[in-house]
Amino acid sequence: MIYMMIGFFKDFFKYKESAKKQQAWLEKYAKQKNYALNPSWMMLTNLKSNLCEMEATFGKRYCPCFEPSADEELNKKMMCPCKFIDEEIAQYGTCHCALFGPADLSKDDWNTSSKRLMNEYQVPKNLKNGVLDTRGMPLDPHRALPIPDMMHQLKSTLNGYRGDTLTVIVEHEQEVKNLEKIAQYRGLKMSSVNKNGSFEAVLDFKK
Ligand code: SF4
Repeated sequence: MIYMMIGFFKDFFKYKESAKKQQAWLEKYAKQKNYALNPSWMMLTNLKSNLCEMEATFGKRYCPCFEPSADEELNKKMMCPCKFIDEEIAQYGTCHCALFGPADLSKDDWNTSSKRLMNEYQVPKNLKNGVLDTRGMPLDPHRALPIPDMMHQLKSTLNGYRGDTLTVIVEHEQEVKNLEKIAQYRGLKMSSVNKNGSFEAVLDFKK
């Protein structure tokens, strides 16, 4: 929990300025569609930081909950606000990430959807002896992408990680490409190999 809070505030200060631009379009879009934004300051701030990070890492405003896939058509649908928003509001009360919901959504319903989202991220990480195996997470029914994805598993690992290197095992080549962009954005060295149908990437934190 303490590492999660440290990570939250690190991102808050890092993206403070760019988050203001996110707030501007979020408010405009919500007004047009008669939606509201998540009323929890922490949830909204965290989602805005994640939107900023997606844009800074991948050059596009992808959904704050899903790193890009190998399917370009799906990626277009995943730009925030995504193509799944109305379907998910009907299903969960809010969009998947609990960023947008109907203007008249009750506080209890916002809380229920925010808890649903947080539960998705509270699966135990498969981290042992400097190796993070990101495979085997449940798939989101709308996008068929893992929750939590490699990027979010890595991010929560790095909040409290003290090793010199971290080996990250991923299932798909696209995740290696994403990891390369994450490493580049964070100024880390990275190497990767294909092993028995999966991929092992090593992130080097030594300067
Ligand atoms: S689920 Fe919500 S936050 Fe994620 S892309 Fe869709 S509208 Fe944006």
